[in-house]
Amino acid sequence: PAAVAAAHEFVALLCRRLIEEEDRLTALDRAVGDGDLGTNLARGARTILSCGEELAAGNSLPGYFRGLSEAIRRVVGGTSGPLYSLLALGMAEGIGRNPEAPQPEDWGRGLEIGTALIQELGGAQVGDRTMVDALVPAVEALNGAAGDPEAVAAAAQAARHGAEATGTMVTGLGRSSYLGRRALGHPDPGAIAIAILCETAATYLA
Ligand code: ADP
Ligand code: MG
Ligand code: MG
Repeated sequence: PAAVAAAHEFVALLCRRLIEEEDRLTALDRAVGDGDLGTNLARGARTILSCGEELAAGNSLPGYFRGLSEAIRRVVGGTSGPLYSLLALGMAEGIGRNPEAPQPEDWGRGLEIGTALIQELGGAQVGDRTMVDALVPAVEALNGAAGDPEAVAAAAQAARHGAEATGTMVTGLGRSSYLGRRALGHPDPGAIAIAILCETAATYLA
């Protein structure tokens, strides 16, 4: 159906953007982690670009996102793999209420559910210097302006702001926690990746 093809067109754009940003994300992860974030995310993006059309052709919209979740879990390594897999699962659940024609608030609910699943698995709160520092403000901005055409742009700004703020955080979860004060001045790479994705979504939907 048309809704699934349209969703895949949007997802494919996000994937191409992550592949473009591979080197930059890897460099950020090299500063505070083990330097594989760009590679991890680009591997997932390439997998989705190669199997996504087939997934879209044979599935409902929630089924398509569940398929993405499985593919991500299968191929993406590191901490990002299971967490991005949950993000896709959250989208499947959020749009499940309106699978034929999801409304803006259904997508917002999907992001909210995915974020909650990530927090449940990883235990991160805002301020722990992770992707959650970009996701939570984005969800809040989306829900605060649900249906408003500016909502996604506001969410992208909030995600970018939250991601940049991680550069001022000393303690946290994940590999950067080993660095203590040496992490200061370096934003969390996973949070920057979320900001890039939200900005790409905002540009696409503008
Ligand atoms: P790894 O550290 O295993 O190499 P990646 O490089 O794939 O993992 O991903 C690192 C990113 O994962 C971090 O920048 C951070 O945003 C995110 N992250 C790490 N731990 C957690 C956690 N407990 N909850 C949420 N996100 C986390
Ligand atoms: Mg890493
Ligand atoms: Mg790693």
